[in-house]
Amino acid sequence: MYTVIAMTDKTRGARGATAFLVDKGTPGFSFGKKENKMGIRASSTYELVFEDCKIPASAILGKEGHGFLSAMKTFDMSRPGVAAQALGIAAGALEDAVDYARTREQFGKPVISNQGLRFMLADMAMKVETARAMVYATARSIDSGDRNCSKESAIAKCYASDVAMQVTTDAVQVFGGYGYMKEYPMEKRMRDAKITQIYEGTNQIQREVIGQCLIKEAAAKK
Ligand SMILES: Cc1cc2nc3c(=O)[nH]c(=O)nc-3n(C[C@H](O)[C@H](O)[C@H](O)COP(=O)(O)OP(=O)(O)OC[C@H]3O[C@@H](n4cnc5c(N)ncnc54)[C@H](O)[C@@H]3O)c2cc1C
Repeated sequence: MYTVIAMTDKTRGARGATAFLVDKGTPGFSFGKKENKMGIRASSTYELVFEDCKIPASAILGKEGHGFLSAMKTFDMSRPGVAAQALGIAAGALEDAVDYARTREQFGKPVISNQGLRFMLADMAMKVETARAMVYATARSIDSGDRNCSKESAIAKCYASDVAMQVTTDAVQVFGGYGYMKEYPMEKRMRDAKITQIYEGTNQIQREVIGQCLIKEAAAKK
């Protein structure tokens, strides 16, 4: 089952978009090429092709013209999921980086005995823990029924995914040359982290959402 947001009235801009539920197997709906992705390669991504695909009005999700609004409301709930994915990638990278630094010896001592490397690990840990606090706080407020969570959701997604990118990049560094090799898990984590800054709205768009929320909040106080 696919959620498809299509323009049903091109003259109305965002208000001309409508959400539909489309079954796999609907005549005129098929798959195009399988995308060859940088990361998250265990998840398949295909082009969706619609050719003379007729969808009945009964398949409308919500109301005609409310597709953009539905998408935005869905994002408020789904962005913390991407934030959690990013947090998991970052936390796993940190754990493995600490383990590796404790066991890898150079010049007769573990590399973690170098303060410079420990400072790097400490910075990674601070980022992971602040991302964790943000992701859990957002999940708690959604669980408690808060439906006005656009800003919080965007902050959680944007912050946790930026952290995932920074922490996995540093974790590759901690692994040294092995970090760059496919036999070790780090380069995969770095590739997997990248998508969390892109999908469910890029981080530029998250910053735009956060900025718009700040304007609305300030106006409401006047
Ligand atoms: C693996 C994968 C899976 C996906 N799965 C889904 C899915 O299941 N469903 C779905 O609907 N989509 C899916 N997407 C699409 C994804 O959500 C979009 O690729 C993403 O939102 C970015 O949109 P775009 O590619 O059109 O980038 P563009 O909008 O073309 O953006 C290009 C660049 O311009 C910047 N930019 C654009 N507008 C602004 C602005 N107003 N201000 C500042 N910068 C801006 C962007 O941040 C980006 O850096 C998937 C994408 C990938 C890669």
